[in-house]
Amino acid sequence: MKRLEEMLNNFKYIAENPKKMLKQYKEETGKGAVGIMPVYAPEELVHAAGYLPMGLWGAQKTISKARTYLPPFACSIMQSVMENEIDGEYDDLDAVIFSVPCDTLKCMSQKWKGKSDVIVFTHPQNRKLECSNDFLVEEYKILKNKLEKTLNTKITDENLNKSIEIYNENRKIMREFVEVAAKYPNLIDPIARHNVIKSRWFIEKSKHTEMVRQLIDEVEKEEIIPWKGKKVVLTGIMAEPSGFLEILKDENFAVVADDLAQESRQFRIDVPMGEDPIYRLAKWWQYFDGCALATDPKKVRGSMLIDMVKENKADAVVVCMMKFCDPEEFDYPIYYKELDNENIPNIMVEIDLELTSFEQAKTRLQSFNEILK
Ligand code: SF4
Repeated sequence: MKRLEEMLNNFKYIAENPKKMLKQYKEETGKGAVGIMPVYAPEELVHAAGYLPMGLWGAQKTISKARTYLPPFACSIMQSVMENEIDGEYDDLDAVIFSVPCDTLKCMSQKWKGKSDVIVFTHPQNRKLECSNDFLVEEYKILKNKLEKTLNTKITDENLNKSIEIYNENRKIMREFVEVAAKYPNLIDPIARHNVIKSRWFIEKSKHTEMVRQLIDEVEKEEIIPWKGKKVVLTGIMAEPSGFLEILKDENFAVVADDLAQESRQFRIDVPMGEDPIYRLAKWWQYFDGCALATDPKKVRGSMLIDMVKENKADAVVVCMMKFCDPEEFDYPIYYKELDNENIPNIMVEIDLELTSFEQAKTRLQSFNEILK
């Protein structure tokens, strides 16, 4: 058990100290890092260049300077990212990659306040047509050229295919971890689960895969104890700050699956097999479904959530609604109705990275827990 605790503490340390992880990577490799703005980007290109792709998911902080550049109704995460930019938190990065599927990200890509170069690309939204793959291949080629120029390196097809395999292995082990965490909620609480997943944004992926593999081995040595609390599925952009996860933990909610952009949406499908690595990366976007940022006329998110609830025998869905995120707000009435039709209890809680007091969310989740009981 002590070993398990040490391992979980290690994931916590990584998740909470991205700057230290970057420094360590630089010392070990002599190379640097490239920021990956939420939500999706072909990180494998950065990995194949030998650089560390670092997720930029903001931080819990008071917003003051960012208000000069963003309207107060810009989403909470981008307010926080902008504050970090102005504070110089991202100045150690060699470049930052942006995909711009929403209006806020479009503005952010044009208003970057950090020192690093910004590389912007576009994800096509008419995704199921072959011509959208052709479009994305061209976008990724431009992105690759710009990266090569900025980092003064060459990204070969061989290295890129290797990086895709490393990423697919990480995706696979993460899917396994999510299942294991659902079986052992007494050992992996919502905060520990989040730390294991979040840490994959801040260290080299093959290292992370190995760490998670060892963690799974350690957890599986333990006996499975039936969970007495309620089981929930999370959906949304992200489930932070930690104060929010602490409420879930205190209320004995086990997170048995998630549909969060920062978490499982990143690894629920692999990059498909094939020879041309750029085309493989483009195909991932075509196959990917169930996210407000990937246009889907069939709107499968609701049915995906219902399947997750049934497969994991969950009691409810907790919607982690990023404050002022239009794409997520537009999706909500559609899947809310579908959950309701299936009699799946659900609650929407606003995610605000600026919050330091969580009393309102606590009261709502406490009452929700009582209703479920
Ligand atoms: S998708 Fe939502 S959370 Fe993400 S940048 Fe756009 S508005 Fe903000």
